[in-house]
Amino acid sequence: MSSQTYQRDRLQARTPLRCPICGGELQDSMIRDLGGVTSDLTWQMHAGRCPEHGWFQAEAISRPPREIFSVNKPFGSARRVSIDGKEAFSFPTRFNLLPDAERRKPVDAFDAALWRAANLADRG
Ligand SMILES: [Zn+2]
Repeated sequence: MSSQTYQRDRLQARTPLRCPICGGELQDSMIRDLGGVTSDLTWQMHAGRCPEHGWFQAEAISRPPREIFSVNKPFGSARRVSIDGKEAFSFPTRFNLLPDAERRKPVDAFDAALWRAANLADRG
């Protein structure tokens, strides 16, 4: 991979991130740890590539991400994707659908069900 990696990147990492378009498992997944060493804050950027739909990334800050972004490369810039003729840069997650009060409760930041793209909900 030609993109620059940092010491705090974990490659082939296990991530709850899935493709927000097909729900498929991602390849070449990586996790970049952004949290301070002394901080108990969980702050991570997750990225991975769907063989069919390209790169996606999402940021977890002690909670699941509210959106998954399509990007041109891991930790890169936004990429426009077209789904059923509609263009999108980002995909709200199931976590984003929770009411505010629910979202403020303690939650597993890596709960895979909450990382799932909301548009996939009715497809199980
Ligand atoms: Zn996909």
